[in-house]
Amino acid sequence: MDFTFTEEQRLMAETARKIAKDFPPDYWYEKEEKGEFGTEFWEAISEAGFLGIVIPEKYGGVGLGMTELSLVIEELCENGCGMAGNWYICLTEVFGAMPIVRYGTEEQKQKYLPDMAKGKLEFCMALTEPNAGTNTFRTETFAKREGNGFRINGTKIFISGADRAKGMLLITRTTKLDEAPKKTHGITLFLVDLPNPAVKVNPIPKHGINYSKSCEVVIEDLWVPESAVLAEVDKGWYPLLNVLDPERLVFTMASVGIGKLAIKTAVEYSTQRKVFEDPVGSYQALQHPLAEAYAGLVSAELLSYKAAWLFDRGAHYREIGATANMAKAVAVENATKAVYWAMQTLGGYGYAKEYHVERWWREINLVRLAPVTQQMALNYIGEHVMGMPRSYK
Ligand SMILES: Cc1cc2nc3c(=O)[nH]c(=O)nc-3n(C[C@H](O)[C@H](O)[C@H](O)COP(=O)(O)OP(=O)(O)OC[C@H]3O[C@@H](n4cnc5c(N)ncnc54)[C@H](O)[C@@H]3O)c2cc1C
Repeated sequence: MDFTFTEEQRLMAETARKIAKDFPPDYWYEKEEKGEFGTEFWEAISEAGFLGIVIPEKYGGVGLGMTELSLVIEELCENGCGMAGNWYICLTEVFGAMPIVRYGTEEQKQKYLPDMAKGKLEFCMALTEPNAGTNTFRTETFAKREGNGFRINGTKIFISGADRAKGMLLITRTTKLDEAPKKTHGITLFLVDLPNPAVKVNPIPKHGINYSKSCEVVIEDLWVPESAVLAEVDKGWYPLLNVLDPERLVFTMASVGIGKLAIKTAVEYSTQRKVFEDPVGSYQALQHPLAEAYAGLVSAELLSYKAAWLFDRGAHYREIGATANMAKAVAVENATKAVYWAMQTLGGYGYAKEYHVERWWREINLVRLAPVTQQMALNYIGEHVMGMPRSYK
């Protein structure tokens, strides 16, 4: 077993660290407060090729995989960007480039990938619905065959980046759940160009990550040609898993990065701050929970790299799913703990916006709820890894 990174991977990590230094926590504080997109950061990651890591060189990308994507995201998040080091990359590269690379036709690849790699085309994914959050099988957005295409109607909720995106991976049903021979049948993925008069996008005020908007997306009588189908009609479930597992992994790496960033901030502060005679960092009441969280983060990081390695080698979806869900569950528990104890270590300053920890607290809390809730990640482990009976229908 070899844990060393290649020279190319080390260089990518170094570039990510340099970019992160140019976009420190103060930059994100301002973007968050103003609710502004980080345009300068987007340009820097485009320039570095980070939006094309998984895109083959033939389409202008770097031609690497999930391992390199994970590495870059962790470095950006850990070295000052927090969740922003993952967010924009995930929306365009995981929701857009990855499924198009794996399942797109040559025409779809030519249409989207070169612009994505250059940072000229932002993407989003519309999966969640008011009546289908955790339970994707209940998707109600329906695509009905009409002429040589499909007429689509439905409402999606919390769709991040839909206000800016030029493309959207839209998850629909083409066979209703009660008519499907099995629940995985009847899901169809579409690539939809935005903006479109048949697609209304309404941003939802939210708790954190305000340098990107998450939106209600109302689709009314949208017609798309057959060429907008990604993969096969009715058979989109397994291709969708190949979006959702990488999504879990980039959020795992973001959690590890945010957790380590919070710990680094707490360590620096606690070695300076004296309340009684010694620095507060010498108190084990603060040291031990931070050390436990740190060990947990490093464990999740290793597991996540294993999942990325499995994904890059085209392992069975159950093996990837098991590893990705375990990594995500462990990363989130420990990152939440890390940020919680970082806030405690900074005392009242942990609550002040200019010290950033409270922003990371808002960011890390999202990962308990999305992309998959902690409960559903644990359900997966209970059922598919440990073989316990399914607790719900
Ligand atoms: C800021 C933000 C950005 C987002 N961005 C996107 C995006 O870009 N695209 C997109 O498609 N979606 C996006 N989402 C949606 C996100 O993926 C969902 O919110 C998430 O999957 C949970 O779905 P839900 O909110 O409907 O919760 P629900 O499914 O209603 O779940 C509610 C609670 O019940 C629990 N629960 C449900 N079933 C079980 C069970 N069987 N066992 C135990 N507990 C259970 C859940 O764990 C959860 O705690 C975003 C959400 C947020 C908040």
